[in-house]
Amino acid sequence: MNVYTTVAEMRQQVHAWKKEGLTIGLVPTMGYLHEGHASLIERARKENDKVIVSVFVNPTQFGPNEDLAAYPRDFKRDSALCEKLGTDAIFHPEPEEMYQNACTAVTMSVLNETLCGKSRPVHFGGVCTVVSKLFHISGADRAYFGQKDAQQLAIVRKMVKDLNFDIEIVGCPIVREADGLAKSSRNVYLNEEERKAALCLSRAVKKGQELIHLGISAEEVLAPMRQIIEAEPLAKIDYVSMVDAENMQYVDHVESDVLVAMAVYVGKTRLIDNFSFHV
Ligand code: AMP
Repeated sequence: MNVYTTVAEMRQQVHAWKKEGLTIGLVPTMGYLHEGHASLIERARKENDKVIVSVFVNPTQFGPNEDLAAYPRDFKRDSALCEKLGTDAIFHPEPEEMYQNACTAVTMSVLNETLCGKSRPVHFGGVCTVVSKLFHISGADRAYFGQKDAQQLAIVRKMVKDLNFDIEIVGCPIVREADGLAKSSRNVYLNEEERKAALCLSRAVKKGQELIHLGISAEEVLAPMRQIIEAEPLAKIDYVSMVDAENMQYVDHVESDVLVAMAVYVGKTRLIDNFSFHV
């Protein structure tokens, strides 16, 4: 497994693979890898001749008061895990390599105006820009994203369609801890008490899944979910919402495929969780 830190070196490898007619799967990550990332890498491994994992804490997707500087990093451990999972190359650039003198960015509308996009106004523009760059640099045939970041997945799918990227987007299910907490690099921020409190998110998801059915109103699903979270003193709701699964617009009733998503502060840590319902 090779680690490339420059676009030029990564491209050279990609060109060599393409010349041989090999297919490439890309798994974009911000590192501090866990089993959620591993599930994406394993899927990519099965479906492609070559697998590239990008490890890049992308500064442009963090707002000014967010956790860019504190975001956990452990590249040695990440590269060991990637190697174990049969990754062919890691792309691990510095921000300067990605953004020096950049004047161009990708913007999104509509889909980024709800949920996390509402709370984090610069976030999805940064995601679209870096993901576009990674698609071009990797020359990937397929890219793998987790349902854990469901709005991100919907936005990337829309961007690929709108901008005619020649790449297949593969969505992969949420990987959870044994007790239900969705795996996240940010879970390391939680102390013991907060770790227990964080279970209110997956409990709320479970409740929502029990209640949801065709025709039910959004509030009939969301209110009991909010109650579960509000009963937890360390938790503070950012949002608990229901949106159309494709365009991310709020819905009043379940009449199409929907996404039920939440962001909750547990202490200072902002956690997300969600489930989808197909009619
Ligand atoms: P991140 O490193 O947090 O930017 O995540 C990189 C990719 O891994 C994204 O596509 C995430 O949706 C995905 N991912 C993160 N956590 C999980 C999880 N618990 N289950 C499935 N995919 C995940």
